[in-house]
Amino acid sequence: MSPKKAQHRQKSEEQQLDFRTRPLEILVGASRTAFYIHESLICGSSEFFKNAMNRDWKESQERSVPLPDDDVEIFDLYSKWLYTGTITYVADEASIKEAIAEQDLKDFKSPSKLDEIEDKVSAIYVQLAKAIVMGEKLQDVKFKDAITDTITDCISNFTLPSMPGFHFNPGYEFVNIIYAGTMESAPIRRLLVEIWVNQASKTWLLPSSTASEKLPNDFYYDLSAGLLEGRVVLFKDETAFRKRKQTCCWHSHGAEAPCSKRQKET
Ligand SMILES: [Zn+2]
Repeated sequence: MSPKKAQHRQKSEEQQLDFRTRPLEILVGASRTAFYIHESLICGSSEFFKNAMNRDWKESQERSVPLPDDDVEIFDLYSKWLYTGTITYVADEASIKEAIAEQDLKDFKSPSKLDEIEDKVSAIYVQLAKAIVMGEKLQDVKFKDAITDTITDCISNFTLPSMPGFHFNPGYEFVNIIYAGTMESAPIRRLLVEIWVNQASKTWLLPSSTASEKLPNDFYYDLSAGLLEGRVVLFKDETAFRKRKQTCCWHSHGAEAPCSKRQKET
């Protein structure tokens, strides 16, 4: 990266961290739960807020933005990420890993134990899917990419040591939330298709008695296209997926913008 680019970025980050600006009031959900967030910070990250405050809208005059349709828990996650750069989620990742580590192969033959862990993992994935959808709405590319990285970390981490190659993957509800709340070109859709192309068996497609396990038609189309294109090998061994998630293939930032993840690492 050229020094000029780095300087430019530093400047925009400094502007974002200008805490001399007044906080905005954001009223989230039907409960109108109030969050107070510095204007420079949220407008520097979210195009939605930038536009709302730049226009002569009632919101920008009153310095209060209502988000009645959004989830308080997910907005809480977003606001914490804005200030800390870390994704926190309600279900405790460490406790899940511990539960997985405690079990040996024998126990995983007991379906109830496996179901219990699967439920916990699904709850995390559902929360992360809702977060991606919020990122789409708020037009916050960095947030979306941070969530995508958290999702791929979960896929890497939630495995069974006794069953090489097994991953707890995002389930049906995740697919439905993503397909209802993102655009056709969303890279997260590509990630889902790649997982299915690599990991799914015929039984994943069997019509289920529960409506919650139905899949969106667009997803069937993407999956067929993915199968025709051929497999990108994701899980041949653990390093294949790890290597692929080190690239920007599932990020939304595009070729021109810098990658916030890579920035942190260098
Ligand atoms: Zn990237």
